[in-house]
This record gives sequence, C-alpha cells and structure tokens, in this order.
Amino acid sequence: MSLDEVMERTAADLVPNDLEAFWMPFTANRAFKKRPRLISRAKDMHYFAPDGRAVLDGTAGLWCTNAGHNRAPIVEAIRNAATELDFAPTFQYGHPTAFTLASRIADLAPAGLDHVFFCNSGSEAVDTALKIALAYQNVIGQGARTRLIGRERGYHGVGFGGISVGGIVPNRRAFGTLLAGVDHLPTTYDRAHQAFTKGEPAYGAHFADELERIVGLHDPSTIAAVIVEPMAGSTGVIPAPQGYLQRLRDICDKYGILLIFDEVITGFGRLGHAFAAERYGVTPDLITFAKGVTSGAVPMGGVLARSSIHDAFMRGPEHVIELFHGYTYSAHPLACAAGIATLDLYAKEDLFARARKIEPIWADAVMSLREQPGVLDIRTVGLTAGIDLAPKDGKPGVRGYQALETAFHDLGFMVRATGDTLALTPPLIISEDQIGELIEKTGKVIAATA
Ligand code: PMP
Repeated sequence: MSLDEVMERTAADLVPNDLEAFWMPFTANRAFKKRPRLISRAKDMHYFAPDGRAVLDGTAGLWCTNAGHNRAPIVEAIRNAATELDFAPTFQYGHPTAFTLASRIADLAPAGLDHVFFCNSGSEAVDTALKIALAYQNVIGQGARTRLIGRERGYHGVGFGGISVGGIVPNRRAFGTLLAGVDHLPTTYDRAHQAFTKGEPAYGAHFADELERIVGLHDPSTIAAVIVEPMAGSTGVIPAPQGYLQRLRDICDKYGILLIFDEVITGFGRLGHAFAAERYGVTPDLITFAKGVTSGAVPMGGVLARSSIHDAFMRGPEHVIELFHGYTYSAHPLACAAGIATLDLYAKEDLFARARKIEPIWADAVMSLREQPGVLDIRTVGLTAGIDLAPKDGKPGVRGYQALETAFHDLGFMVRATGDTLALTPPLIISEDQIGELIEKTGKVIAATA
C-alpha cells in the first residue's frame, strides 16, 4: 500500500475492534482502554486520529521525531533500503550503510569519540555502554573497577543495567535486587534555589562533589564509571546546573573513572547541538544515543566511544572477537538508511542551529505560563520544557493525567505527563506560530485542570 493510500484509509479501517491483547508499555492500561487516545498517521508537526482530527505534536512522539513526521527523504530511504537489503548480519559480515552511518555520527560527535557500536534502542545503548565500561577496565588491567554510579531521578531505560543505575523508584522497586555495586549521586534539582530558571541554573554545581564522597566511601580503584543525562528528561526536564558536568569530568579524571553521558534524548539537536556534550563543552568517554538518530522512524540506538577505549580492545590476536556483545539487529539496514537520510535532513535544514536560534523564543513562551494557577515551577533548556503542577485535591498524578486527556481529546495536542509534571519537547521544525499555539493550548489545559 502506498503512503497516499494509507493516508486515505477511512476511520473505520483504522479503529481496532479489540484493544485487549496489546499490553501497553508505561501506560495505565485500564484507563486508556476506556477512552483510548488513538493515532493512525502523522505528517510534519501533526499526528492524526483515525477520524482525521489533527493533533499538534508537542512531544516529538517520545522525544524522538526531531525532524518532524514522515519526512519524504527519510520515508524514501527506508523504502529503497527495504527493497535492496532486508537484513544483513553484522556479526562477522558487514553492509556498507552501517559503516557510512557510523562515520557520519562520529563526525558529529565531540573530537576523540570516533567509534560507534550500534544497537536498537536507548535501553540497549545504556546496557552496552555500561558493559563496554566494565570490559574496558578489565582490558586495561583494572578489573577491580566494577562499581557503577548513576543518579537519583536519572532515567536510563529499562534493561537491568539501566534500572540499576537509574533513579526512578517505581521503575526499580518491583524488579528484585538489580545490579550489585551501584551508587547514586543526588539529583541536581532544588526548587528552592532554581525555580523558573531558563536554561542551566546558576545553583547546583556542588552536587557533583557528592562523587568525591562516594569515591571516599569505597575506593577509587573499585569504581568503573559514572553515568548521567546532561539534561534529565524523563523525570521532568532537569537541566544540568552551570559547571556541574565539568566538575564531574574533573573528579572522574582525578580517579580514572569513565564518564558516560546518556544522550538518548539530548542527542541530535534537542539542546541546539548534535550532542549536549558540545553545548556544555565537556567531553565524556562514552555517549549513548537513540531516538533522534533516525528521527524515530526506525528503531536504532548506539554508543559512541573514545578511540582510546575502542583501541584498548584491539590488542589481542587478530582473529579473536574483541568484545562479546551485540544484537541480531545491530546496524539493521533499514535503520542505517533512515539514519543517513535523517542526518542529511538535519544538515540540509540546519535544524540544530535552528533549535539554538529559537530557544529564547521558546523559553519566553513557556515561561509566560508561570502565573497560571498551580504552576509550581517551569524549567526549559533547548527545545524542552518541564512544567510542575500542584496536585489536585492532594492526589498525585490525577491532574497530570487529566491534562493529558484534555490536551488530546479537547484541544488537539500531545503533551507528556509524568505524575503532575508536563513535558513539552516538540520536533525541531516547529514554527513560531506553532509555538504560540502549543503554549496557548497548554495554558488552557493548566487552567482546565486547576
Ligand atoms: N536513556 C534516556 C536518557 C532516555 O530518555 C531513554 C528513553 N526516554 C532511554 C535511555 C531508553 O530508551 P528506549 O526507550 O529507546 O529504550
């Protein structure tokens, strides 16, 4: 079926008869299935419900469709790839687009991060990065370095590695003992000192010094790596305080600890640069990415590694596998084709620079909501916004859920709600008029749920 034909399908074709079999991820299934929020197609800045109703995408899907939806060059590239090479193993064989995409991503990365290990999601990227960090310490004769350090309120996907270093209690508590030997830095969020800051708060670099305390508690020779998001996304948009990431870098250097930036959200333009590492002028040893690499069109993730890390693995006998890790779908041909087309589109439309340019307009628009009833804080950096709402009748989460429903069903836009925090993270192609529309509608939602 052609794309045009898909677009012309009627509502009746698109509404499923039965919603039961699909156990939806990270969703209140029973509430959803009583009043589903169905999406059947998308174009540029909009989703469309099966009845054709347009829904302005305020969240770039799940922080991933940075170039907007169903962009022709990406669609075309995927279509061509599917007709040419459906699948190729990248264990012991290779296909050209995988090498091309890896070089293209390395070109965008901070100097020194020159090698790319591909996987299929952010969660896999995190587990891959943690495993590379541990294996690297082994390879260089530092095998006692097995401890990993994450952060409270960090989100690093849902693999066992990711939930172990992550700091979101509901994502952890039902799943047993998790990885041993994990410590957590404190969150960098302190509302009393940071409320309604645009960009990086001036207060909070000292939270990095907690790493010194953890190092002191154990011994530096037992610690492999620290992983943080340069901007904590999933727990409500928490930008790194000024100087914080540099301080982490300095402490890691002092003790031979690897620094991993989880850039699954911040990679590919969200903060106005290819990677947040560039915005902050701090170069980690490993970077995880996913989402924006294909603008969400085909699942893909990966890890960028410093040459010195990669090269440390390349010293044994030549015919022996260097790293016992990989996924059947690592560097899938469709994902690689989508990735190359996506990077071309980002470059052609200069979308990262555009995000940088409109950041002040975006930040002003978002901050205009601060006088609305029950707005406790607003944070914004790049093209992101986190808006904390006071819970309704003392019941956490109710207001956030109502906001989500009202936005979708009554006002025609998509927002994310985590508890009573709303997150807005539109595609980087959003026009100034659409920023106005999105923020005006968000204001209505806030008022309607007060
Ligand atoms: N790391 C970060 C920082 C993320 O934001 C996410 C997803 N939002 C992940 C990892 C996990 O990615 P995925 O859902 O693709 O597994």
